[in-house]
Amino acid sequence: MIRDDLRDMPPATPFDDDKLKEECGVFGVIGVTDAANFVALGMHALQHRGQEAGGIVAYDPDTGFNSARHFGYVRDNFTSQRVMETLPGALGIGHVRYSTAGSKGHTAIRDVQPFFGEFAMGGAAIAHNGNITNANALRRELIERGSIFQSSSDSECIIHLMARSLQRNIPERMKDALRRVEGAFSVVAMTRTKLIGVRDARGVRPLVLGKIGDQGYALSSETCALDIIGAEFVREIEPGEMVVISAGKVESFKPFDPKPSRFCIFEQVYFSRPDSILGGRSVYETRRQIGVELAREAPVEADLVCPVPDSGTPAAIGFSHESGIPYGMGIIRNQYMGRTFIEPSEQIRNMGVRLKLNVNRALIRDKRIILVDDSVVRGTTSRKIKDMLLDAGAAEVHFRIASPPTMWPCFYGVDTPDRDKLLAAQMTVDEMRDHLGVDSLKFISLDGLYRAAGVAEGRDAAAPAFCDACFSGEYPVVPSDMIEKGFEMKTAAE
Ligand code: SF4
Repeated sequence: MIRDDLRDMPPATPFDDDKLKEECGVFGVIGVTDAANFVALGMHALQHRGQEAGGIVAYDPDTGFNSARHFGYVRDNFTSQRVMETLPGALGIGHVRYSTAGSKGHTAIRDVQPFFGEFAMGGAAIAHNGNITNANALRRELIERGSIFQSSSDSECIIHLMARSLQRNIPERMKDALRRVEGAFSVVAMTRTKLIGVRDARGVRPLVLGKIGDQGYALSSETCALDIIGAEFVREIEPGEMVVISAGKVESFKPFDPKPSRFCIFEQVYFSRPDSILGGRSVYETRRQIGVELAREAPVEADLVCPVPDSGTPAAIGFSHESGIPYGMGIIRNQYMGRTFIEPSEQIRNMGVRLKLNVNRALIRDKRIILVDDSVVRGTTSRKIKDMLLDAGAAEVHFRIASPPTMWPCFYGVDTPDRDKLLAAQMTVDEMRDHLGVDSLKFISLDGLYRAAGVAEGRDAAAPAFCDACFSGEYPVVPSDMIEKGFEMKTAAE
């Protein structure tokens, strides 16, 4: 039974926090009583990856597939006994959404995942994180051949491709479908008896495997969501790997042609939670190390290192440690800001960033401040924060950025402005410094970022270990749908 939320999408956050927006989060469990409760907890831990909407599908032998999809936070929709009782069973998957592809900006409930398909051999539900870069071409082809789409989401292409496959079971149909699909994505899917996880051939988006007790397993975008349900982290799903889990057993398949691994380096910088483990390393430690590298590459005389909270905090700690300049919370974040601020008046909207961040005046007065942030996208918020610091009496503001200049859009499931809105695509670093009105501005180099992420020799230009297209313009997967729309790549992808 489908229980959809018929309300309109909630109002957008009433300030522009000028960040790249996380993609989505996927989570699934098998082999536990009341799987949907575990899924809801996992989705709650992944809420930073998408706050717009969430959905759960669970399977129970007596009542079949049940689903609920709602706009808004997990905590507001999937905590009541009344809702969770409608999702019985030992197998379930869930998805938290920030719209990237699909009906961006005016999401319809039909675009909220997981999606469900009924096949001759039984039903299957599917949720994905990332983008299928040939989705438009596939959609056209499928429509010409008679498929009727119900949503504007990429995932539905996979369902229709599965429906057309002649294979005899759902995992084989999924393999057939995935061979047609190009892009950067992680998939979590389920049949009546199986939990399935897939990472794209280059492993751009994350997906990990966890174990719950003797028989249970979990798949998650990040390890932090395994912690919340007490699951043990087993391993990352490998790039190009498909796992099929049932009856306490994990089978591994490789449906794609092998490609070099190109994990998203921005997961290390910003998207993933600092308490997650990526590539065997703590995200917190990588971010702290970015601050160390930044202090080596871009030292400056100052009195205090302050993060833009929370995303700049680990890098500021690393910068302070390496430079010997004291660390301080010069900016305080209101933890309760979010979508809960319903329909603000124009006057409140104009307060902008002050709704979210406030300067700790007593700490920063008359001091030379090193302000550490994770990235500069449009630069709108950076300017406002600098103004707040100067208004509160800071003597100097030196901006240090824990990523290289963001010059290119991401087509792999991250919401990025067009190139003409990206400050670094329009100005040199010196011009950006003047535009932002700071005393100095430095970004970490790509080599420094790679070193911080564990690649001691820095970036290998011939074979980079990560996707870094938003910094380098070198796209590891050809964004064919976007090229069709007129996007010009700097260099050819592999
Ligand atoms: S373009 Fe940037 S944000 Fe997108 S996947 Fe690559 S590194 Fe990540």
